[in-house]
Amino acid sequence: MPELPDVSVFKDYFDKTTFKKKIKRVEVFEKRIIKGTSEKELNNVLKGKFFKKSGRYGKHLFAEIDSEAGLDIHFGMTGDLELIDDLSKIPPFTRLLFIFQDGEGLAFEDQRIFGHISLVHNFDDLISRYRLGKDALEITAEEFQETIHKRKGKIKSLLMNQSLISGLGNVYADEILFQAGIHPESKGSRIPEEKIKKLFSTMNKVLKTAIKYAAKREDFPSKFLINHRKKNEDCPDKCGKIDIIKINGRTTYFCGACQELF
Ligand SMILES: [Zn+2]
Repeated sequence: MPELPDVSVFKDYFDKTTFKKKIKRVEVFEKRIIKGTSEKELNNVLKGKFFKKSGRYGKHLFAEIDSEAGLDIHFGMTGDLELIDDLSKIPPFTRLLFIFQDGEGLAFEDQRIFGHISLVHNFDDLISRYRLGKDALEITAEEFQETIHKRKGKIKSLLMNQSLISGLGNVYADEILFQAGIHPESKGSRIPEEKIKKLFSTMNKVLKTAIKYAAKREDFPSKFLINHRKKNEDCPDKCGKIDIIKINGRTTYFCGACQELF
């Protein structure tokens, strides 16, 4: 499921594949993928235009068309982008296709259709529409401390709450808590200030490392939890076994030996 580092990679791919290309038209193959708009409206807005620039916020990709309009692209659970040079060979789970004047296309693929594409006015409109909290790579240490310290909820749920901090999902929340040595069921308000500082620096380090590896999880350093997400697997720190619990219905992997409960 795409999280902040994955969407960062999608942004680079989007920039590389759409730069300086005039949009000829948009084809929608699955209506459920477009939210609050129609194929006709998308074509009215996009035809003959260029994607001027893009931005990532949390798990959203914003693609600016002009000063009044842009696209919000959300990848849901299985969203992906693919440049198509032969329009007669469209990938099977293509839900929407941007067709460019040069004959190429950019497919938005999404097998499970939890992603969406919407029209928004601008970047700020996107952020306020979803009531997104600060992006995980933009929030300051002080804001992070304040956000966590005053809440009684479980730290894993706090990290995954997009209206508090935007960009983390199930896998990276587990990874960050593992590397910071904090048990995922710890209450935000009980975590000591020094540990929240550690959590903040770990969050930045993990996300930046993931982006450096182009979000290819199989290439991550072996000390990461990410490739040890199995019950009874050895902890990458060799101190115990990986355990599984459910938090807010989400399967959570952690090491009871090296992650302290507060
Ligand atoms: Zn451990």
